[in-house]
Amino acid sequence: MIKFDIAVIGAGLAGLTAANSLREAGFSVIVMDKARGPGGRLATRRGEGATRMDHGCQYLTDGTGLGPAFFQDGLDQGCLATWSPALSEPDPVETGPYPSGAFWHVGLPTMSAIPKAMAQGLEVKLACRVAGMRQVGDAWTLFDDSNISIATATWVVSAIPSPQALELFKPHEFSELESMSKAGYDPNWTLMLVEQDTMAGDPDVIRPESGPIAWIVNQRSKPGRPDVNAWVAQATTIWSIDNLELEPGAAIQQMLPAVSKALGRDIHGEATAHRWRYAFVNRTAGKPSLLDARKHLAACGDWCLGAKAGHAIRSGRSVAEGIIQLMG
Ligand SMILES: Cc1cc2nc3c(=O)[nH]c(=O)nc-3n(C[C@H](O)[C@H](O)[C@H](O)COP(=O)(O)OP(=O)(O)OC[C@H]3O[C@@H](n4cnc5c(N)ncnc54)[C@H](O)[C@@H]3O)c2cc1C
Repeated sequence: MIKFDIAVIGAGLAGLTAANSLREAGFSVIVMDKARGPGGRLATRRGEGATRMDHGCQYLTDGTGLGPAFFQDGLDQGCLATWSPALSEPDPVETGPYPSGAFWHVGLPTMSAIPKAMAQGLEVKLACRVAGMRQVGDAWTLFDDSNISIATATWVVSAIPSPQALELFKPHEFSELESMSKAGYDPNWTLMLVEQDTMAGDPDVIRPESGPIAWIVNQRSKPGRPDVNAWVAQATTIWSIDNLELEPGAAIQQMLPAVSKALGRDIHGEATAHRWRYAFVNRTAGKPSLLDARKHLAACGDWCLGAKAGHAIRSGRSVAEGIIQLMG
C-alpha cells in the first residue's frame, strides 16, 4: 500500500481546503469520506425532474474573514454565483451591504458544485468511513468498518464534526482532546418539497416569527435553478432538539403545516425530511485548528472557529499551515 504524507478524514469544506493547501505545498495527500460525494453539509438532493435542493448550507458570506479571493476564484471558475433573494422582511442576521450588493454567494448550479470543484485534482476515496486507526513507527494505518486497511500515512488530519473526531482520536491520546471536547453542535431538521404547480408571488426567503420553522428558502430564486417552486425549510434549533428522534414522516407532519402557514397558502407535493445531527456549532474549540506534533495528528472543522462554512474553510487553511510549518 502506498504511504501518503497526509491522510485527511472528511471531504467537507475544511478537509478539502486542508488537502488542497497541503498538496500545493508538495505533500502527497489522500482524502476519505463516508458519503458518496464530497461536500459534507454543503449538500444537494435530487427533487422531481431537474429540480435540485440544497438541503444543508444555503449560501456563503464574506462575513467570516474568508477574504475576497475565495469568492473571486469561485466566480471565475463558474461554480459560484451571487444571490440577492427577495426577503419577506429585512434580514436581522446578516449585516453586510445586502440587499443592494452581491453579499450572498451560492454554488452554481447547486451548493455541492463548490466542493466538487475543490475536489478536482485531489485523490478522494468516497463511500469510505474511517472507523479506526493504528500507529506503528511513523506510519498511521486507517481502517474501515470491516477492519480492512484503507490508507497509510505519516500524518492524519481529522476534518469531521468534533463528536465524531473525539471517537477516533481518543484512544490515541491526542494532546488536544480537551480543546476538542469543548466544541459542540445543535441539530437541525430540514424539510424539502417541490410544488407541481408553479405559483408566483411568494417571497424567496421567509423567516417565520414563531412556530417550529426558522427559515424557508425557495430554491427557484437561486441563480441557475429550474423555474419550479422548490422549498427548503429549516426547523428552529429548539424544535429540532425537542424532536431529534422523530421518524422523518412524523417530522414532515409537523413541519409542513407550519411552512404552509408561513407562506399563507397550502403547499402540496412529495415532502422529504433530513435530520442533521451535527448542524450548527454552538460552542467552539476556541483555536483555528488543533495539532499534536509528536503524534502526527491534527484536526480542523467549523467547530474550531464558528458555525459557518467560512469558519470551516479558515480552519482547513490553519491546519495545513501548521503542518507545513512543522514539516517544512
Ligand atoms: C441545515 C444547515 C444549514 C446551514 N446553512 C449555512 C449557511 O447558510 N451558511 C453557512 O455559512 N453555513 C451554513 N451551515 C454550516 C456549514 O454547512 C458548515 O459550517 C460547513 O459546511 C462545515 O464544513 P466541515 O468541513 O467543517 O464539516 P462537514 O461539512 O460536516 O464535513 C465533514 C465530512 O466528514 C465526513 N465524515 C464524518 N465522519 C467520517 C468518518 N468517520 N470517515 C469518513 N468521513 C467522515 C462527512 O461525510 C462529511 O462529508 C449550515 C449547516 C446546516 C446543517
